[in-house]
Amino acid sequence: MTETVGKVFLVGSGPGGCGMLTIRAREVIDQAEVILYDQLPGDEVLSSLPQRAELIDVGKYGDKHTRKQGEIEDLMIQRAKEGKRVVRLKGGDPFMFGRGGEELETCREQGIPVEVVPGVTSAIAVPASVGIPVTHRKWASQVTVITGNEDPTKEESAIDWEWLARSRGTIVILMGVKNLPTIAETLIKFGREPMTPVAVIERGLRPDQRETIGTLVTIAEKATAAGVKPPAVIVIGGVVEMYRSDEERMVRPPSQKTQ
Ligand code: SAH
Repeated sequence: MTETVGKVFLVGSGPGGCGMLTIRAREVIDQAEVILYDQLPGDEVLSSLPQRAELIDVGKYGDKHTRKQGEIEDLMIQRAKEGKRVVRLKGGDPFMFGRGGEELETCREQGIPVEVVPGVTSAIAVPASVGIPVTHRKWASQVTVITGNEDPTKEESAIDWEWLARSRGTIVILMGVKNLPTIAETLIKFGREPMTPVAVIERGLRPDQRETIGTLVTIAEKATAAGVKPPAVIVIGGVVEMYRSDEERMVRPPSQKTQ
């Protein structure tokens, strides 16, 4: 039996706004027959999806998963087996905590051709939007990107918190809003300088971007007082000294790009 097999594209949308989409991402999105998306790419990208494609909201956000990862992959494979060009659209880069790795494995197991379209990751671009470089010769010769989903007080944490606290580089945390208080406490407990500056940047590169700045000691309280919500990128380290408020934003959301 001959079967026309389609193709899966694992596409990163960047942190928000069409200006952060790569040219290749725009191309494959515009040629897609099926697009599986969630809310992370943001309104501007989502409203630019081609209406003639089959658009499927597989939106899962924080704990509110509307579809399980397995179901998303089943849909993706099923449509590709029907011969379709399927885009799995993800915020940022598909391989930076995007579960793109698992989707790639599934495609391989199923013999489906795949193309990966890397995206601009929020881990670097969101700090950049307020003038924070994740590395700088003065402060950080290494940067560690971690998921904040891991509760540091759990014994079986997959993250070596002690090593992280003692490492001298920048720490960038994605999905860390909920655990920020325990993360800050744990880093201090294992020896990070309590006055280390911390930036929490919500909805980076979107029109309603907002930042909360503090130190390891003060940030949890400040974030709670400000009502910080995901999606947010947390940056910990000397590089946060480079922060400038949004009047001087370094990378502008596309809606503001004319200034
Ligand atoms: N693959 C994505 C990350 C997926 S994990 C990437 O490369 O950016 C989801 C987390 O990414 C969010 O909880 C948040 O920590 C971060 N994130 C993604 N886009 C963001 C944005 N525009 N502003 C702030 N944080 C963002």
